[in-house]
Amino acid sequence: MKIISVNAGSSSLKFKLLDMPNENVIIEGAIERIGEETAIYTLKKDGKKDRKIVSIPNHNIAVEVILDDLIKMQIIKSFDEIKGVGHRVVQGGALYDKSVLIDDSVIQNIEKLSSLAPLHNPANLTGILAFKKAIPMAITVAVFDTAFHQTMEEDVFMYATPYEWYKKYGVRKYGFHGSSHRFVSEKIAEVEGRKDLRIVVCHIGNGASISAVKNGKCIDTTMGLTPLEGIPMGTRSGNVDPTVLEFVARNENKTVPEIIDILNKKSGYLGITSYSNDSRDLEDATDYIINDDKKSIYNTKEKQDELAKLCNLALNIQYKRVVDYIGSYYILLGGIDVIAFTAGIGENSSRFRHAILSRLSVLGVVVDEETNNKYRSTLVKITTNASKIKSYIVPTDEEIVIARDVYSLIKYA
Ligand code: ADP
Repeated sequence: MKIISVNAGSSSLKFKLLDMPNENVIIEGAIERIGEETAIYTLKKDGKKDRKIVSIPNHNIAVEVILDDLIKMQIIKSFDEIKGVGHRVVQGGALYDKSVLIDDSVIQNIEKLSSLAPLHNPANLTGILAFKKAIPMAITVAVFDTAFHQTMEEDVFMYATPYEWYKKYGVRKYGFHGSSHRFVSEKIAEVEGRKDLRIVVCHIGNGASISAVKNGKCIDTTMGLTPLEGIPMGTRSGNVDPTVLEFVARNENKTVPEIIDILNKKSGYLGITSYSNDSRDLEDATDYIINDDKKSIYNTKEKQDELAKLCNLALNIQYKRVVDYIGSYYILLGGIDVIAFTAGIGENSSRFRHAILSRLSVLGVVVDEETNNKYRSTLVKITTNASKIKSYIVPTDEEIVIARDVYSLIKYA
């Protein structure tokens, strides 16, 4: 049975067509810069990538173009071969603790929850409506980023702010990247052959969050009302004293939304270094390897020294905060059985994993340096048998989570 997983952003649409239940990926692709004459359309099939520039005025056209190509490429004979469409929806609030079939009331709720996720929910909804229009006979499912974290207790998800804010506006911690935290913790349970595990999942990509999972249930996570809370990321600051907002707004003559925008888009790695939001660039710069397009700026030993120092600092700030959370989750979970690393940085950067695990030696963590250096994006254990806590690299797969949920809900449609 063919099922599509969809991740619609404000100007992008990513998809994966899977054959279920065997989970084979038939084709995947993305259209970026929707709304522009020069949208970038990529398709990947059987390891081969195809990239072209096309004019895509809106999401409806994007969906039409993709579906027409599936026919042209003889992947499907007609649209009704696609039995289900699963959509990533960022904010499900306290309304959804699992994936649901999308009907009118779900659409209304996703709209209502847009006030909590103004950058994401409206975009997700655009994708939902575009697919509903193009293939109305397929069942449609919403898979919420927040759902997996709905098992957090009240004293964990509440902020110590006026209770009225929670009652009136739902001000509380929700957490994000839920599908990834769920996929990775389930994979660890599968590998370890048991469910009664205390797991810390480090999802570290450009966006980054950590969660504490006990016996398959999330009991805490680092992101909050929005993805800004928690550890520093590629462009996000993570936690700051909220007074910083008012202080900088006053001194820089900026509004609160402007400062929040800076904390979301111009902080983290990018904010500290003014160089890049990509961990590879920062890691390289600490070794004095400068990107070609920046060589003319960092053209003296003095400038390169300063950049190397700042890149080291940005990385160390993040490592420190990650370890702070793991330490607190150690207490909350009553010990840790497994620490899992996933997403762009977690899966690929041996330096990141080494930095975190070596700082945890006080808990009896012993890194298997050779394995850690050798592997990327591969399911593998990276601690030695002497280690009191195991650690694994686990390649995440949010699209599989979406397709699995669609498949399991199809029988209720
Ligand atoms: P998001 O989904 O939040 O955009 P990803 O999970 O795709 O982020 O992670 C993107 C980040 O992963 C990049 O910014 C880059 O820093 C990091 N990354 C990707 N590949 C590598 C690699 N080979 N080595 C080190 N870092 C990597």
